[in-house]
Amino acid sequence: MQLQLSDEDREFRATMREFFTTKVPQEIRDKVAEGRELSKEDIVASQKALNDAGYAVPHWPVQYGGQDWTQLQRHIWNEEMQAASVPPPLAFNTSMIGPVLAQFGSDELKERFLAPTASLDIWWSQGFSEPDAGSDLASLRTRAVKDGDDWVVNGQKTWTTLGQYGDWIFTLVRTDPDVKKQAGISMLLIDMTLPGVEVRPIELIDGGHEVNEVWFTDVRVPGDMLVGEVNQGWTIAKFLLGNERVGVAPVGSTKRNLARAKRLAQESGLLSDPLYAARVAELENELLALELTALRVVANSAEGAPHPASSVLKLKGTVLQQAVSELLVDVAGPQSVGGDGWGARSTPTYLNLRKASIYGGSNEVQRQIIAKTILGL
Ligand SMILES: Cc1cc2nc3c(=O)[nH]c(=O)nc-3n(C[C@H](O)[C@H](O)[C@H](O)COP(=O)(O)OP(=O)(O)OC[C@H]3O[C@@H](n4cnc5c(N)ncnc54)[C@H](O)[C@@H]3O)c2cc1C
Repeated sequence: MQLQLSDEDREFRATMREFFTTKVPQEIRDKVAEGRELSKEDIVASQKALNDAGYAVPHWPVQYGGQDWTQLQRHIWNEEMQAASVPPPLAFNTSMIGPVLAQFGSDELKERFLAPTASLDIWWSQGFSEPDAGSDLASLRTRAVKDGDDWVVNGQKTWTTLGQYGDWIFTLVRTDPDVKKQAGISMLLIDMTLPGVEVRPIELIDGGHEVNEVWFTDVRVPGDMLVGEVNQGWTIAKFLLGNERVGVAPVGSTKRNLARAKRLAQESGLLSDPLYAARVAELENELLALELTALRVVANSAEGAPHPASSVLKLKGTVLQQAVSELLVDVAGPQSVGGDGWGARSTPTYLNLRKASIYGGSNEVQRQIIAKTILGL
């Protein structure tokens, strides 16, 4: 594999670096670098800055705002964005529903939704999981029944991330209960201000509010809010979930956090402990290996369809992300449980990141996918 960047790609990297470090507000980037919580306004402002420059959705088809970049350039874009502590564009919008609408949506849906999805004028939520339908997603029970031109939706979704900010929710609903479970599912777009939609917060152990339940009671959804064909939802969901997994291997930000842990350990003297230094070196090597794997995966994804190895990226990316958060807790030592500086934030971050091996498809399930579809076991 050619590992040297060409002059053109080096120039591209410099352009990206300059943009991310000068055009996205410094106070937002400081919050990301220090692991502080971002507000909705921060996330919207950052994505708008990217979108105004054409950098929010480079992987979309060009006619909908994408860039005619090589896979390597997209990778550099992503790496530089994370290295500069720029919040990534909202994945629900840019990695999930946007590509789905571009691929499966009617012309009317594309016309109506793609531009505000890229600019984050519409904030999307993901309404897939239900109680008893997480890993076994095809067991979902939320029903949509045709009544005239409308669909009438009843049921409950759960773990809806940032649903309290959601304007619209893309959902999987059961439209035929009498066939094999995968064959009776459709995708509907639901305006979250419609009567009968209720968002209920799930309170987390640290008092935070990141996830929600969303309840639908006789919600009337216009028939043209169906994505693709009736009962084609499972195919669309698989397309979307493959993209979701590519997006959840945060190599750039994990590298940044590892460099930070190393710097802080140097300052505190911990880096001279051979055991700690060996952990740092091992994680650096594993991250490099993951980075190269990510490059191979993007280089091999045909016509925007996700490569099955996206499961490897999801699995390894989240394992390394968690391991680096543990290094930071160790550097913080006693400060990790008191005060209000970076040290005190290291423990909540460590605990919060336990979620990363569950969402986007649990890591146990990713191992099953890798065993079956890649290793042929
Ligand atoms: C923080 C967070 C945010 C989320 N955000 C969203 C969101 O915005 N929208 C949305 O739709 N969903 C969201 N989810 C849901 C997420 O996708 C599911 O939690 C996930 O798919 C796992 O499903 P489950 O929680 O029902 O666990 P289960 O599927 O019940 O799994 C329980 C345990 O059994 C294991 N297991 C299950 N099946 C197998 C198998 N076949 N082989 C081996 N082990 C298995 C699992 O790995 C896990 O350890 C979120 C979840 C979290 C934690």
